[in-house]
Amino acid sequence: MNSKNDDVNVIRTGIWEALGSLGLRNILTAMAVIIITVVALSFGFYALYSSVKESISLRSEINARKFSKDFDEYLLTGLNNIKMASYSVDMLLKNSASSDEIREYLVQESANIKSSIDSDSTGIYGLVNDYFLDGSGWIPDADYDPKNRPWYQETIENGVPITFVKPYVDKQTGNLMMTITGLLGDGRSVIAVDLSLKEVQDITERIGQSVPGSIGMVLDNSGGVVAHSDRQELKREYLKERNTLGSLIASRIFREHSTQFEVAFGNTSYMVYAEPLAGGWVSVSAIDTAELFKLPRFIMQFSVVVLLSIALIFIIVVKIARRNLLTQKLNMQLASVGAIYVCMYDIDIPGNSCSEICYHSIFQSGLFSSEENDCSGKVFAVRNGNSSLVEDAQAAFFRMTEEAVSESSRKSMRQFVDFSTLDERFNGVNTSTEEFLDSRNKWCRGRFIVEKRDSAGKIVRVLWLVESIDREKRNREKLRYLAETDMMTGICNRGTGEHKISAMLAEKQSGMFMLLDIDKFKRVNDSFGHKTGDQAIIGVADALKKTFRNYDVLMRLGGDEFAVFALGVCTLDKAREVAARFFQNVQKIRIPEMGDRSVNVSVGAAFYSGDTEVTFQELYEQADGCTYISKKTEGNSITYYEIHDPDNGPGQ
Ligand code: GH3
Ligand code: MG
Repeated sequence: MNSKNDDVNVIRTGIWEALGSLGLRNILTAMAVIIITVVALSFGFYALYSSVKESISLRSEINARKFSKDFDEYLLTGLNNIKMASYSVDMLLKNSASSDEIREYLVQESANIKSSIDSDSTGIYGLVNDYFLDGSGWIPDADYDPKNRPWYQETIENGVPITFVKPYVDKQTGNLMMTITGLLGDGRSVIAVDLSLKEVQDITERIGQSVPGSIGMVLDNSGGVVAHSDRQELKREYLKERNTLGSLIASRIFREHSTQFEVAFGNTSYMVYAEPLAGGWVSVSAIDTAELFKLPRFIMQFSVVVLLSIALIFIIVVKIARRNLLTQKLNMQLASVGAIYVCMYDIDIPGNSCSEICYHSIFQSGLFSSEENDCSGKVFAVRNGNSSLVEDAQAAFFRMTEEAVSESSRKSMRQFVDFSTLDERFNGVNTSTEEFLDSRNKWCRGRFIVEKRDSAGKIVRVLWLVESIDREKRNREKLRYLAETDMMTGICNRGTGEHKISAMLAEKQSGMFMLLDIDKFKRVNDSFGHKTGDQAIIGVADALKKTFRNYDVLMRLGGDEFAVFALGVCTLDKAREVAARFFQNVQKIRIPEMGDRSVNVSVGAAFYSGDTEVTFQELYEQADGCTYISKKTEGNSITYYEIHDPDNGPGQ
């Protein structure tokens, strides 16, 4: 039970989702189309209904009238015959004619009727003066009592000159027969003529076939079925029945005296026309409206289906067209985004496979071009054979790292493209980048973007993108250089130098911190001008560059003041060696504008052993004190701050 409910819910959700995916505008359009269609078709159907109803009614009425005329004509001859015979026999009786004479007359008349009206007729017969006389020469059985026969009894009962007796089935022919009787003047003699209702039945059946779903019938004056388009209905007594179509029709005709009416029966209704016939009989034509409107209804249903299909197809076409437009737009957007990247791959992590995301067709269309990216994508192609789907993607990525990444970046890139550590690295983040030098020594940036995770948060799909950042990287380097460098000398400016030295101190890297200041620099400026002063500053910076190694930090603090952190120089011996080399280089400074005037510097030095914690400021202050002492000495001089033996103070 539950699972059934679940199924129903799933179907409902599915329908809502499908409707949702159609979009509100589409649904409203579809509804408007449906409403307009139904209203238009209803009008059409109504118009069709009215015209069909009118034409069919007319036809049925004409049928019923024609039938009654035919029937009346058919009966009239029989009726006239019996009237004539009644009159003649009455005359014969009055003239005291014998029974044989009367029989002879009847035989003669019977032959006339047989030849002129009805070949199936049994002729004229009757009970005249208590003698049964038969015009066809039929001799009844001994037990035959005419007074017990319906034709006799009904005539006597009616007491009128002419009676239409209830039809009966002739045992000899199987035909339904009707009898017309005449009551003679003596009030107890009756003559009768039998007419076959075969022709009436034929006419009725023709009516039944003339319009689909129509019924034709003749009812006698007590609602008995004399003729019917459905033979099985013959001899039924409608007025004695309840809740049958026949009983409903008969009661309207005989009790309410209606001649044109509609009767609801079962799921349909019948339009009925009744025409009175001779002898209180009625011819009836009934048409099943459901049958009648079968065709118009089919046309309407068919039209609804066709129009709805057209509307549906229209909506689908519009939707597909819109989706295509959207896809095109997305492709363009992807291509414009893709223009940044030299390659794009979609990686299935659990399946260890990947495929290239191709937007090249758009590139080839000439809509986009990427000067930086062209052809370099091939460098990073992740391939295993020629298939677009790469199996064992991890191996292919490691191979790409070996082939396309420069040696200096290879180790870090190998770690970066290691799928097994992705979950750990992408905990809480969905993208990560790694900058690397490719095999042509151009800067690139590799990027993973998490596309999909499973319910447990494990990565299922990632995008792998490589973009060329060589120009950007070099611009950045340039800016960094500009920000970090003292433009006049090309060594670090104060901020950068202090930052670098602080970082080294924080890592407890031992070394010597030197502070130096050009002696009597103001005089240089004053005597030779600022430009020459600048030459002196540059000369000292060059001497520093020549003296120290790449990884030592050289900085200009400002004006004629410099600082150095010489890594690993921790002993006085080593320091003296370095200082001597520096002073030699200072002595070599030659500035033509200054003639034979040399440049001298005063240096203060402090050591950091790496054992304790020290700040840049502390080292600076120690060295500054020493510089101050050095200033007192003429020419190049250095004073060391004895950090190991503070009691001895700075030494030279
Ligand atoms: P001392 O021996 O005591 O160091 O005397 P000094 O004349 O060198 O005095 P000090 O070091 O205090 O003077 C530094 C001078 O350097 C002051 C300033 O005019 C000059 N100066 C500062 N920056 C520049 C620069 O970029 N170019 C030039 N040419 N001179 C500068
Ligand atoms: Mg100075």
